[in-house]
Amino acid sequence: MSIFGCEAFDGHEQVVFCCDRDTGLQAIIAIHDTTLGPALGGCRFWPYPDEAQALEDVLRLSRGMTYKAAMARLPLGGGKSVILGDPQRTKSRELLLAFGEAVARLGGRYIVAEDVGTSAEDMAIVRRMTRHVAGLSGAGGAGDPGPTTALGVLYGIRAAVRHKLGRRSLKGCSVAVQGLGSVGYRLCQLLHGEGACLTVADIDRSRVERAVKELSATPSEPEAIIEVESDVFAPCALGAVLDDRTIPRLRAAIVAGSANNQLAEDRHGELLRRRGILYAPDYVINAGGLISVAREVLGHEGSGYDRERVLAEVAGIEEALQEVFDHAERDQVPTNVVADRTAEERLAAAAAAEVRLAQTASGWA
Ligand code: NAD
Repeated sequence: MSIFGCEAFDGHEQVVFCCDRDTGLQAIIAIHDTTLGPALGGCRFWPYPDEAQALEDVLRLSRGMTYKAAMARLPLGGGKSVILGDPQRTKSRELLLAFGEAVARLGGRYIVAEDVGTSAEDMAIVRRMTRHVAGLSGAGGAGDPGPTTALGVLYGIRAAVRHKLGRRSLKGCSVAVQGLGSVGYRLCQLLHGEGACLTVADIDRSRVERAVKELSATPSEPEAIIEVESDVFAPCALGAVLDDRTIPRLRAAIVAGSANNQLAEDRHGELLRRRGILYAPDYVINAGGLISVAREVLGHEGSGYDRERVLAEVAGIEEALQEVFDHAERDQVPTNVVADRTAEERLAAAAAAEVRLAQTASGWA
């Protein structure tokens, strides 16, 4: 099996396999790139079918964090971690403490936060072993990033609807939402507040029933949501939902949702473009949670975590996406390619500035 040569590896700076015999901890911490700063990314606790899938997931997610931080103009790098196992059955205080020790050994190169399968309460336990933790609840903490991510997605949908459909309001807009979890349900509430018409799907029927009751949403079967005729399809559940099989079935003008790694492969961005569907690159539209958690670590100039300033920064997602859409239209390239290139240019500029600084310090310049 090739690790360094596989597509997902993409020149990762460091990948750490963590094991603790006493607690049964098996985890992988991936640090993709620290050019812009320490790597910040969530810890996913998930029952992967095998280790290879866990490795591929953590590598893809970690790389995505590098690009997400660069596009959100945060002085942070990209990293992610996964704990292998079913959180319902294997999560324990001792196991989380052992994971905290593994994070501590990295000396601040990686900062962990919550993700699918972990919570702010879990991060409070991890915090007992390392200070390199974000997404804590209570005073000065960012708390659950889900609602802030949802707000960013709402701004992104506004930008996409304006660009693609020429509409300045979401009133009467039809949105098909896949996944009604922490982000998806909050997004539905925000969209409902703006007068949008919702069709929703979740494998958890009770969440669908709640949306029908509270938000007048139309229910859909999980496998049918992708082909609901709508202005916007918002994937807020799984990754890799856009592939050769699903893209021809889409009946939405726009794809804009929170899920990470929505494109099964990069080339699927071009497939969407050819079908005339506007795609909001996932790591640009879903950066709201990262912005919030990052400000818990970085603070703001002259102050600590400031909710009002975080919300203002999240509002910037609308403009960031507008720039991506304009650029893609001008150059006739897929939006995911524009976002990748922009992030890579920012990373290259930061790396060049670092080299110049080092040369000046050593007298070589
Ligand atoms: P969550 O676990 O709270 O919610 C996911 C929801 O999707 C659940 O209700 C689940 O039942 C549902 N689901 C699972 N499989 C489904 C299927 N096949 N069809 C329909 N529904 C299905 O997760 P979340 O925090 O809301 O995150 C949603 C997505 O957004 C994930 O891909 C996550 O990586 C991404 N994301 C989340 C954040 C955040 O701040 N929470 C930030 C960035 C990206």
